[in-house]
Amino acid sequence: CRPSFEGEKSILSRREYHASLAVQAAAAPTTGAVVKPREKNGRKHLVILGSGWGGYKLLNQVSTKYHQVTVISPRTYFVFTPLLASTAVGTLEFRCAMEPVRSRYRGIFRWMSKKGEGVNLIEAFADNIDFARKKVECVTQFTPVKEETTLDRSAAEDECPGEMSINGRMKDGRRKFEVEYDDLVIAVGAYSQTFGTPGVKEHAYFLKDVGDARRIRARILHCFELAACPSTTEEERRQLLHFVCVGGGPTGVEFAAELHDLIHDDLALLYPELYHLASISLFDVAPRILGSFDENLGEYARAKFARSGIRIRTGTHVTKIEEGKVYTKESGMERFGMMVWATGLHANPLVEEMKGVLKDKRTGSVLTDGRLRVVDEKGQPVDGVYAIGDCAAIKDGEILPATAQVANQKAIYLGNSLNAIARSGTPSYEPEPFKFLNRGAMAYIGGWKAIVQPAKSGGLSGRAAWILWRTAYLSMSVSLRNKILIPTYWLLNFVFGRDITRF
Ligand code: FAD
Repeated sequence: CRPSFEGEKSILSRREYHASLAVQAAAAPTTGAVVKPREKNGRKHLVILGSGWGGYKLLNQVSTKYHQVTVISPRTYFVFTPLLASTAVGTLEFRCAMEPVRSRYRGIFRWMSKKGEGVNLIEAFADNIDFARKKVECVTQFTPVKEETTLDRSAAEDECPGEMSINGRMKDGRRKFEVEYDDLVIAVGAYSQTFGTPGVKEHAYFLKDVGDARRIRARILHCFELAACPSTTEEERRQLLHFVCVGGGPTGVEFAAELHDLIHDDLALLYPELYHLASISLFDVAPRILGSFDENLGEYARAKFARSGIRIRTGTHVTKIEEGKVYTKESGMERFGMMVWATGLHANPLVEEMKGVLKDKRTGSVLTDGRLRVVDEKGQPVDGVYAIGDCAAIKDGEILPATAQVANQKAIYLGNSLNAIARSGTPSYEPEPFKFLNRGAMAYIGGWKAIVQPAKSGGLSGRAAWILWRTAYLSMSVSLRNKILIPTYWLLNFVFGRDITRF
């Protein structure tokens, strides 16, 4: 459904025509359209919400022989979250933790790709799901072209009869549209949990996406530059160079460790007069950090942090954040230059507002049966709707952690199940229920040391664990491009130091 451009007689100016083509190229419907894929070989339309660990892996797993796949996500890329903390301090470049969703089906090399092999992606939020009509209501992230552009909508509707209804414009210029599905997979992940602590959203940084990592890196370097100004007092320098991390889980610990490496290895050389003023504090309300790891591994990490000068403030309850100030129940107010908030997960608003389905009382996740089908309030599977990843939990099943490992395994299982159902030709075909295989956990704790907790008993810590940590994540990285980029940046930064360009 392309708007036409026919010189003088056209309903669109040349600029408007090209702007609208750009929009078409982005494959995002421009008005209140109903997206219904053109039927090809009787394949079912599988819609995947989200391009994270669950959605992206599933995209890789389902066969396009049986499914016509559309991904709807506000992010056009997949984020390899275990490497986010490294990108936030320049140990790796942001590109190393990203994979563009659109090029998923392309060959390894450019010349192996075929025209039209890209993924059908719509850059938008799923806003609501109408299970009865089998439609996802979506809203775009941005206004596609400036509002003064006047596309003749009735003409556009003539060109695409039945596919558009002109009702989808929102007050801020973003557009609403609907996407029809045969099968739907909800993999929208979760948001950061703030426990309603005032000031967190305004004054702390989250670490969930590459944009967050970019902002954190810029702020760390900004704090050092501000502290280096001759007009800054000693007291202000101490405040600016106090970095606080709230949350003693793997994300908070890895970030504190990476930040310590950056300050110790690189910034100490570049700002020798400031190094002794820099400090890192790790707050957690729990009695110990890394509560999901064995006690001896947690203790190893604590001792390593203590030797590195990272202050661990367990049993500390953060009550309020103001600009540059953190208030705790136990020790009143402290000043900081930057705070990273990593205290767990809160249900995604799409899931939070979802009606007619069962939800987990503790986490707010949508409940599924053992075959990952979303269940309604009577406990029956909702037709053609599945949920995986951080936004889902199995009803009456084992409580699984919100990790990439779980999301990944569920996506592989679901992809294989959907392929098997399609291959069998009988929608009532029921594959074996999902079984989680615990492959253990690991965390980087700084200074080329890590801790590794295997699935069964025992544990590994120190340099050997660090080599295992790096090898595991390098092997799990997705594209050949990143498999080359990641070790290249590790080597470059080892030789030349981390990149401290602020932009
Ligand atoms: P996500 O990966 O968060 O993806 C959700 C997707 O949904 C995103 O693309 C998002 O843009 C999209 N989305 C959101 N809202 C909507 C909407 N309304 N409509 C459409 N799309 C939407 N786990 C491990 O196992 N090992 C680790 O080492 C590890 N390290 C981590 C480090 C960090 C810094 C973080 C933040 C997490 C880490 N995790 C780790 C946890 C792991 O990343 C998550 O468990 C995993 O990402 C969950 O996958 P998901 O697909 O459910 O959600």
